[in-house]
Amino acid sequence: MTRKVPVVENIFKANDQLAQANRNLLDQTRTFAINFMASPGAGKTSVILRTIEALKDKYRLAGIDGDLASTLDADRIAATGIPAVQINTGGTCHLDAVMVQNALPKIDLPNIDVFIIENVGNLICPANFALGVHINVLVASVPEGDDKPYKYPTMYRGVQALLLNKVDLLPYFDFDLDYFRKGVEALNPGLAFFPVSAKTGEGFGEWFAWLQGQIDAFLQTANG
Ligand code: MG
Ligand code: ZN
Repeated sequence: MTRKVPVVENIFKANDQLAQANRNLLDQTRTFAINFMASPGAGKTSVILRTIEALKDKYRLAGIDGDLASTLDADRIAATGIPAVQINTGGTCHLDAVMVQNALPKIDLPNIDVFIIENVGNLICPANFALGVHINVLVASVPEGDDKPYKYPTMYRGVQALLLNKVDLLPYFDFDLDYFRKGVEALNPGLAFFPVSAKTGEGFGEWFAWLQGQIDAFLQTANG
């Protein structure tokens, strides 16, 4: 039992080193990378598709999609007209830095401004595997319940933005927004928070504005 801990620590350490290498490559090629995480069914792909539609006239985009087996989500991303690469994790329930490192050569990074990663739907291990991105984004959703920050603290602690999707369903669910936000605030004070509905488009203006601010700040400093 005492032997297992160092092994796990080494795995995370090796992953962190590769994530840093990914980050260096992204910085050198002036590419802002976003990692979207969510539980299955939160509407992550729908949120990403709306985000791509909002950004694609302003920036040169590319995406990679981590999926257990299918290419369904990558196909939906490719349908927006941006270059998309599928990472088949072969049953692994998260992306890690090696998978991203192997996918990066398939993307024309010097001619891409924003690189969107769709992680595997899972609230547990994706939080433990840094990919080297500039921001980690969590997509939560109303039907999942208002207790998720309390149940998955590592995930909620490690992100730079939180979208609460499916807010059009708030009248039909016993979801206490104050309780949810209190849990988030305790774990990640001041976290950028966006209540949205991928179905109606509600709330996305604020998310796009915030995200563009992050991208533009990065591209400006990376310019010099
Ligand atoms: Mg670039
Ligand atoms: Zn996993």
